[in-house]
Amino acid sequence: AFLIGMASFLSIVAAGQIRPLPSGGQLPSGLFVHSIASMIRTDRNATTKASSDFGRIVEAAPEAVLHPATPADIAALIRFSASSKAPFPVAPRGQGHSARGQSLAPGGVVVDMRALGRGHRRINVSAGAGYVDAGGEQLWIDVLRATLEHGLAPRAWTDYLRLTVGGTLSNAGIGGQAFRHGPQIANVRELDVVTGTGELVTCSREESSDLFFAVLGGLGQFGVITRARIALEPAPKRARWVRLAYTDVTVFTGDQELLISKKASEAGFDYVEGQVQLNRTLIDGPESTPFFSGADINRLAGLVSRSGSGAIYFIEAAMYYDEATASSVDQKLEAVLEQLSFTPGFVFTKDVTYVQFLDRVRVEEEVLRSVGVWDVPHPWLNLFIPRSRIIGFDTGVLKGILGGTNPVGVILMYPMNTNKWDDRMTAVTPQTEEDVFYAVSLLRSAVAVGDVERLERENEAVLAFCTREAIRCKQYLPHYTSEDGWRRHFGTKWERIAELKAKYDPQTIMAPGQRIFQSSI
Ligand code: FAD
Repeated sequence: AFLIGMASFLSIVAAGQIRPLPSGGQLPSGLFVHSIASMIRTDRNATTKASSDFGRIVEAAPEAVLHPATPADIAALIRFSASSKAPFPVAPRGQGHSARGQSLAPGGVVVDMRALGRGHRRINVSAGAGYVDAGGEQLWIDVLRATLEHGLAPRAWTDYLRLTVGGTLSNAGIGGQAFRHGPQIANVRELDVVTGTGELVTCSREESSDLFFAVLGGLGQFGVITRARIALEPAPKRARWVRLAYTDVTVFTGDQELLISKKASEAGFDYVEGQVQLNRTLIDGPESTPFFSGADINRLAGLVSRSGSGAIYFIEAAMYYDEATASSVDQKLEAVLEQLSFTPGFVFTKDVTYVQFLDRVRVEEEVLRSVGVWDVPHPWLNLFIPRSRIIGFDTGVLKGILGGTNPVGVILMYPMNTNKWDDRMTAVTPQTEEDVFYAVSLLRSAVAVGDVERLERENEAVLAFCTREAIRCKQYLPHYTSEDGWRRHFGTKWERIAELKAKYDPQTIMAPGQRIFQSSI
C-alpha cells in the first residue's frame, strides 16, 4: 500500500460525525469481587480508549476494560459472563485498527489484548521445526524482529505491521505474498483459543479442527486467539522494490495475472500488488512521496495528462535476495520485466532491506501523522472481485462512480490465487469457480466537513452497482447491519457458522461489534 499516494495535504476541518452504537446494560456486581477484579478498569480514561477505532465512524463505550496478565484471566472473564444470569458482551481488542466498531463491546467488557504481552515477550521461535509461537496480542513487526534473530520470517504479510496476530487472523491477513503463500490464515499450524464458554483449547487441522477452521477468519465470533503457531521460511536480506506504470487496465491486469501465475511465480516476484490513481490526483497531490521523487511525480503527472483514460495503474512488486543471490538479482529482474508491457520507461526501482520493505507503511504513517491526516475517519471499503468481472468493475466503479472525485487515500487492486485459500475456514472468497480473484481496497480518508457522508454514499453506490450487475463480490473486513446481509455474505457457509457459534459461544457474547448474531443479552 502507499497510503500517502494522492493525499493532497489540505488543512483539516472537522471531519464528520461519529455515530454512537446502542449500549448494553450494567455488569453484574460479582465481577468486581472476582479474582480478576484487580485487572478490570471502569474509569473513563480506560473505557474511552476502548470506545472507538481506527475508522472513527462509530463509537460505543464498554462498561469496563480487562487488562489480562495471562490467557487464564481472559478465560475467567468469559466463563463468568457465559455462566452468569445476565451475560454481558466481551470483545478482544488488538490494536483497534478496525474501521467500523468491530472491536467494541457496548455495555460489556473490552479485553485489552496488548496487556498480555506487557512485561514479557510472548514470542517463541522454534527454528529447527520452522515455526514461531506468537501471542495473539503480538504485533507483526515484533514477530518479524524476533524471527529474524534466527534468520527466519513468516511468509505472508499484511501491508502494515502494527496490527496484532489475533486481529489479522480473525480476518484473513492479505498482502502481496498471498498469491504464492495464501493469506496469513493459511500459514497457521496451531492455535490456543479461549472459547465463548471460557474453555482454553489448543486446536489445529488435526485436533479440534472445527474450532481451528472456525476461528481463522472468524471475526472474533468463536473465541479469543491467545497463541498462534505460524510457519516460517528462511528470511531474505534485501528486496528490489519496483513500481511499473500502466495506462490501460487490461494490460495492467494481464501483467498482474501473468506474475501470479504458477509458471511466472516460481521464477519471478515474491510480492505482487497494484494501485490505481484516478484523474488529477498526481497533478494535485504531494510533490514527492517516500517512494517517488519530485521528478518521478512530474513524469507520472505527464503520463496522466496524456493517458486520457481517467486513471493510471501501478504494479508494485518486490524480488527478495540475499548474499547468495545478490549477483543474479538484476539479471532475474530484467528477465521478468522483459515479459511485461508497462508504459516504456515507466519503471521505478528501489533497493531496500527486507525489513524496510515489509515495514514500508510505517514511513507513510509518520508522514500522515505529521500532517494530521492519520487520526481522521476512514470509511474504507474492501472487496474481493471475481477475475472475470474486474474490467467491468474498473469501468463502472473506478472510472464511473469514483471517476469524478479526487479523494485523499489510496486504491489498491491486485489478484490472488483462489487455490491458496482453504474453504474450510470462516473467511470467504467469491463463490465462483474462478481460479483468480482481485482484492480492491478503497482506502479513503475523510479530511473535510461532509467527507464521511460523501464517501459512505459512494461506498453504498459501489455495493449497489455490484448487486445490480450481479458481480459476485465479497466484502473483506466485512460490515453488515442485518442478519440477512451476513447470511448473503457467508452464503453456503452460513448454516455451519451458525452451528459453530451455538457450540462455541452459545450465549452470543463474543465480539458483538461485528453485529453478526443477535445477542440473547
Ligand atoms: P482489532 O481491530 O483490535 O480487532 C479486529 C476484530 O478481531 C474484532 O472483532 C476483535 O474483537 C477481534 N480480535 C482482536 N484480537 C483478537 C484475538 N486475539 N482473537 C480473536 N479475535 C480477536 N488487513 C489486511 O488483511 N491486509 C492489509 O494489508 C491491511 N492493511 C491495513 C493497514 C492499516 C493502516 C490498517 C488500519 C488496517 C489494515 N488492515 C489490513 C486491516 C487489519 O488487518 C484489520 O483491521 C485487523 O483487524 C486489525 O488488527 P487489530 O489488531 O487492530 O484488530
